[in-house]
Amino acid sequence: MMNCPECGALENLCKARFDEFLVLEFTDAGYGAVHHLTVAAYMVQHSSKLTREGWLHERELLREFLVENKPPSFIRKQNKDLVDSGKRTFKIKSKDGKPVISKTTWTKTILDVRIENAQVYCEDVTAWARSVLDEAENIGLD
Ligand SMILES: [Zn+2]
Repeated sequence: MMNCPECGALENLCKARFDEFLVLEFTDAGYGAVHHLTVAAYMVQHSSKLTREGWLHERELLREFLVENKPPSFIRKQNKDLVDSGKRTFKIKSKDGKPVISKTTWTKTILDVRIENAQVYCEDVTAWARSVLDEAENIGLD
């Protein structure tokens, strides 16, 4: 088995783990509290799913959540307003499957998140997301 070419996770386990986490987050509100971070951190590490603008958008979301402490509900509304008003003109999801960034090694991946209880889970997702943001902020796109 190969490691993930984008986040470096052992044996490509990141995708299965991500799917498993989404189920957990949708079925248990304690875990769901960090859903916004799970998705944004995963997307920033897996840029082949995104357009360039989409990647920059996800990184900005992480910054708004972690640095500006904006609540997810506020950002969802802001986003919806942008889409509804036609002001968001870019596409987030990429169809070509080419990574936007070339970074393939990260300090933390989704595999570093422990799931034994909601508190540990939320702490670990937050630590993973912070680490992703720190490293992603050093990536310059031309
Ligand atoms: Zn991966």
